[in-house]
Amino acid sequence: MKKVLFIDQSSGLGGAELCLLDIAQDYRETSAVGLFAEGDFCNALQQLGIPHHLLTDRPLKIHKDSGLWKSLASGLDIVKIATRIVQLSRDYDLVYANTQKAFVISAIAAAISRRPLVFHLHDILSTQHFSQTNLKVVITLANLFCGLVIANSEATKQAFIDAGGKPDRVHVVYNGFHADRYPEQPEIRAVLRDKLNINDQFVVGCFSRLSPWKGQHILIESLTQLPDNVTVLLVGEALYGEDDYVQQLHQQIAAAGLGNRVKFLGFRSDVPALMQACDVIAHTSTSAEPFGRVIVEAMLSHRPVIATAAGGAVELIRDRQTGWLVTPGEVAALTTAILEIQQLDHTSLSIVQSAYQTAIDRFSIITNNQKIGLLLSQLI
Ligand code: UDP
Repeated sequence: MKKVLFIDQSSGLGGAELCLLDIAQDYRETSAVGLFAEGDFCNALQQLGIPHHLLTDRPLKIHKDSGLWKSLASGLDIVKIATRIVQLSRDYDLVYANTQKAFVISAIAAAISRRPLVFHLHDILSTQHFSQTNLKVVITLANLFCGLVIANSEATKQAFIDAGGKPDRVHVVYNGFHADRYPEQPEIRAVLRDKLNINDQFVVGCFSRLSPWKGQHILIESLTQLPDNVTVLLVGEALYGEDDYVQQLHQQIAAAGLGNRVKFLGFRSDVPALMQACDVIAHTSTSAEPFGRVIVEAMLSHRPVIATAAGGAVELIRDRQTGWLVTPGEVAALTTAILEIQQLDHTSLSIVQSAYQTAIDRFSIITNNQKIGLLLSQLI
């Protein structure tokens, strides 16, 4: 088994970290994860018995979405972390960076320790999300030092190439999922709906960190046009300091008089059970989603899923065959799709069944981890 030093800068559990947990588990006998901070991600590694190293003893607060240089400079002990990665990496076959800031520091460290470097790219590298400087730094380092870039979708791969990344370095491997973690559970559905007091409601679930580009405000706007028996569950929290946005959402809900029809559940670790409580899952990102784990999770949960047609989401869903695709940011399109699904009995929907089969066929954790294993072997 290969000895991999995974590096991730996040303290919280975003999609990239949840993906890494599923990959690193396969390597836990030989490998470890290097972290910049303690927190939920660190706790999850501990629970799964995946070894980890804290790369700095200074408590760091890093906002994933803030500028690269700003966060690198903001008290971040770059030299110390890089030195630690250099030392640690000598005991491993390769360095595997899972996030952008981790990648920048790992690139320098791996060049010094002469270890092969992998970059698992979970972001669409475009100016919509990142500054020109940020993109230039990441692409230059990837082209200079990185033997393998794993993109989480074709959209992510194309953006990397469009930004100047070398096409021969980048391979697409979709996120993998344990299908058995998303069983149909009518009894859990009943208990949760009772607990949440949504028994008689048609429930739209939105499972995502709260962030402007994740588009929860679009769903709230849509709710103003939906019948009174529709309730929205917002599952997730602001992971990277978007507290202003959370406040805006509360104001929007209060102004529309929707206080009793929107429930904020915060960050939850029982997503599969909560999906059972929903009648439809809405993915509402207003700009291109690199992959969209929640979309596949909804497919595995036998729930109809609406996703915005941009980025990786269009690779996951075929419109009206395995789900519903709507134009990002368009309230009317989202409302129409929700109303359409409300008219159908979801358990008998052939779309839901096709979506489930597609998710099983294309997003198996075993197959997709094997693909990564093969790419790592070729690199070494
Ligand atoms: N998620 C979670 N608890 C929550 C909200 C979301 O575990 O309260 C998970 C969700 O199930 C998904 C991930 O967070 O697996 C989000 O990944 P996605 O690719 O959808 O978005 P990202 O956060 O990576 O932008």
